[in-house]
Amino acid sequence: MTNENQLLKKIISHCKEYGYIFPSSEIYDGLSATYDYGPYGVELKNNIKQYWWKSMVQLNENIVGLDSAIFMHSNTWKASGHVDAFNDPLIDNKDSKKRYRADILIDEFISKIEEKIEKDCTKASKRYGKTFDKEKFISTNKRILERYKKIKYIQDSINLFISTKKFDKIKTLIEELKIKCPVSGTCNWTDVRQFNLMFKTKVGATEQGASDLYLRPETAQGIFVNFLNVQKTTRMKIPFGIAQIGKAFRNEIIARQFIFRMREFEQMEMQFFVQPGSEMKWYEYWKNSRMNWHNSLNMGEKNYRFHEHENLAHYANAALDIEFKYPFGFKELEGIHSRTDFDLKAHQELSTKKIQYFDPTINESYVPYVIETSIGLDRMFLSVLCHSFTEEKLLHGESRVVLKIPPVLAPLKAAILPLTKKDGMPEKAREIMAQLQYNFNCVYEEKDSIGKRYRRQDAIGTPFCITIDHQTIEDNTVTIRERDSMLQNRISIEKLNSKIMKAVSINNYLC
Ligand code: ATP
Repeated sequence: MTNENQLLKKIISHCKEYGYIFPSSEIYDGLSATYDYGPYGVELKNNIKQYWWKSMVQLNENIVGLDSAIFMHSNTWKASGHVDAFNDPLIDNKDSKKRYRADILIDEFISKIEEKIEKDCTKASKRYGKTFDKEKFISTNKRILERYKKIKYIQDSINLFISTKKFDKIKTLIEELKIKCPVSGTCNWTDVRQFNLMFKTKVGATEQGASDLYLRPETAQGIFVNFLNVQKTTRMKIPFGIAQIGKAFRNEIIARQFIFRMREFEQMEMQFFVQPGSEMKWYEYWKNSRMNWHNSLNMGEKNYRFHEHENLAHYANAALDIEFKYPFGFKELEGIHSRTDFDLKAHQELSTKKIQYFDPTINESYVPYVIETSIGLDRMFLSVLCHSFTEEKLLHGESRVVLKIPPVLAPLKAAILPLTKKDGMPEKAREIMAQLQYNFNCVYEEKDSIGKRYRRQDAIGTPFCITIDHQTIEDNTVTIRERDSMLQNRISIEKLNSKIMKAVSINNYLC
């Protein structure tokens, strides 16, 4: 097993052990790729939502919120193109009977070539030492240039075959590249078929009267069909945005990599409505703004990169992903799409209701263009965990596992720990708890030795441990231990609030 896979496995079991994420319906042996968020998981999730909502909605005068229903009229999905075009190409291996997304098999093949390029560079840098110039090496080394040529050929081919729906050619490409099934190790593939990702159900009591219903595959359409409701009631002027957080459902062909790809997941989306012709300016704006938002959490700039789409969705005239470096490689965390006026126009046509905006600055009515920012809450959650999970060797052969979660997102901000269960310490600790818990999510714990309690809070990712000891009773001071440095300082009880606030307040990150 590769180190990366091992790391993901460790994160998954850590999440279960410490109440972050449990497999769904576990007592019935679970439901594949479906997870429940535990007590600390739901806090982390809520903190991520709050961090996003604050920066997108409350700190932007021209963005407002919405919470539309998951159920929508089935015409919504006809107009949006999801009934006809929300498909993935699937392929089966005849020997293992395993099913794959054909484009992902090819993406993974490309990632392997990229890994080889990285290995070549590492080898060369060892050989040349300080004089090694990576850029020059990449642009001149014959083997690397050939590898890049191959990547380009594969990418161009798959983009063309997907956009022109040439599924037989996708199969030929998989065969030509000799891509093997990871389970059977053979190249014995079926034809590539289209598979619609929407979950379909029925609404209504009787079979005859029931009508089709889809579980929404994205939250965006709830925003589009409410465009005029929101614009009129809030008196927003273009450019302005509508933001929403909510569940989305996709019948993914293969759902795996823990919470990275699920069939039920949550999105945080914002649709920004602009004057036609100005969309590229706003596309650039949101591209940079969203990258800055990610970097505001200090999880390492090198862990993020842009990936421009060459193969555009049916509604877009430009699109890119912000990718995060997960243990299984750089993968999409957020999508930024210039959606043109496709959705609003399509809803206008099918509903026969005018969806237009009168722009007083140019004295004209038009269907606005849209820039979308769409981030998966669960993928964001996973990025925070992957960044935070740290195994540290300590002095005297000891070790600890610590979640170095950005304090603003940490589920618990402080643990209140009386050193012993006597001499008035629990009572004093309860007083401190009562004082802090209105501002911060805190926990009170008196079980186990203090060392064990520190380790447990490290594993949960609590930024501060506050210990109440004999001296506290005498002079109203406590020790405050910082999670990452493990340093302990003595401070007076009245300074606790401001000390914690300084580390966990959203202002310190977003201002
Ligand atoms: P992918 O190419 O990985 O299937 P996508 O391009 O189809 O993703 P979008 O339609 O752009 O994804 O959705 C916006 C965001 O929603 C993605 O950036 C991702 O963070 C999240 N997302 C999409 N599908 C899933 C899923 N199955 N599980 C968890 N999050 C998802």
